[in-house]
Amino acid sequence: MNLKYLTDTELLKELERYVQQERQLSIKVLHHMREVDRRRLYSDQGCKSLFDYATSKLGYSAGAAYRRVQAARMLGEIPEIEEKIQEGLLNLTHITDAASFFRENKIHKKEEKKEILTQVQGLNKRETNIKLHEYAKKPYVRMIPVALSEATITKVELWRGLRPAIHTPDELIGDALDIAITKTERSRNAGSLKKQVYQRDEKKCTICGSTHNLQYDHRQPKALGGENVVENLRLLCFACNQRARIRAGL
Ligand SMILES: [Zn+2]
Repeated sequence: MNLKYLTDTELLKELERYVQQERQLSIKVLHHMREVDRRRLYSDQGCKSLFDYATSKLGYSAGAAYRRVQAARMLGEIPEIEEKIQEGLLNLTHITDAASFFRENKIHKKEEKKEILTQVQGLNKRETNIKLHEYAKKPYVRMIPVALSEATITKVELWRGLRPAIHTPDELIGDALDIAITKTERSRNAGSLKKQVYQRDEKKCTICGSTHNLQYDHRQPKALGGENVVENLRLLCFACNQRARIRAGL
């Protein structure tokens, strides 16, 4: 297949058309698998299950076979999803994740399943799982293998010593990150705050106009409850700042 001579527009159009056809074909595959399942034809083929048949006879990988078996059964139960698959709103991953969610949470009613599938349309895998867990009012927990150096493990242990009220590794790491995020955001905001004041005051003392020894002054002193916001800050030179402090009795 030589695609070199297609224009960019033609290339994109063709690709979209093939993706559409691919979805139509997947739906056909699912319908056929469902019928094979219903007739239990896999046992005639010497297979224990539809999954077994899909891996050993159809050549799917375990994951691909599992997703198709789940989707074929879901399609039998909720025919409305066919249209959503065709439109690309639901894919095999959505359906597989929803199917295991239904099993784990003992969701049996067709209407409820339909409602949940509607909610995950168009979401990516992670968003889908967060949505499903929200629905079940359970926190979404993912197992991720992480390689930690001895140095990091030592830090985690140190942190555990500093925060004895926190127990699980998840809470411990979450707690440390909360503190790190707050601190980083604060220093970043302080940086941008100063920049804004510097620009607004045109790089000079707001009293005498000097451009030397400039300092950031709180109009209402921090000690008197003055806030760290642009409106309460101004540029002053060292001399004007000293005078202002004396006047304020600080
Ligand atoms: Zn000044």
